[in-house]
Amino acid sequence: MTDYVFPPAITAVPTSTGAMFPVRRIYCVGRNYAEHAREMGHDPNEAPPFFFGKPADALVIGDGDMPYPTETADLHHEIELVAALGRGGMDIPVETALEHVWGYAVGLDMTRRDTQAIAKKGGRPWDMAKGFDHSAPIGTLVPANGTHPASGRISLTVNGTVRQDADIADMIWDLPHVIAYLSKSIELKRGDLIFTGTPAGVGPVVRGDVLVGEIAGIGTVRTKIV
Ligand code: MN
Repeated sequence: MTDYVFPPAITAVPTSTGAMFPVRRIYCVGRNYAEHAREMGHDPNEAPPFFFGKPADALVIGDGDMPYPTETADLHHEIELVAALGRGGMDIPVETALEHVWGYAVGLDMTRRDTQAIAKKGGRPWDMAKGFDHSAPIGTLVPANGTHPASGRISLTVNGTVRQDADIADMIWDLPHVIAYLSKSIELKRGDLIFTGTPAGVGPVVRGDVLVGEIAGIGTVRTKIV
């Protein structure tokens, strides 16, 4: 029988046009703001950028609650600008990279910081520190329509207190360079999301905390840790 053959689940993110954006893969940039690289004990001038992934079904949409994950006592918030690709490619040139971007959203790269520290120390993969269930809350996607933000305030509050506050212009690798580098390693495709890294101010959250992230001109993301 063929009852073991079933269609893959497709995670889709709501857009401001009313349509849903089906997600293929999630790529994330590590240490893309100098102050955050320093707070994590690294030299921000080390190059080139590096990447890791999250499963597409780790997304939390619609400002839904995020269950506090197992196997951590140090769950951290990381607010990030998320780019959604409408067109893929390999070896995409910096000059035309933004033509591949369909739109933008505000996302949270939630991280088991203690698990990550153990992985770093042991030279082990980050998957269980970064790619766990519900680890990627994301707000509404807004289409770029030819307008790509190079600057704008990026901030996150926890229970109303500002924890992260910076400008997306502070990225070490801007989005065109991120796309160019990433597309050297893998073929990007329509539906891919890129989390572009977090500014300084990451820190722990606990059950009951309400996180609200905002990027000027893009929108917000909100989640409650439960
Ligand atoms: Mn991150």
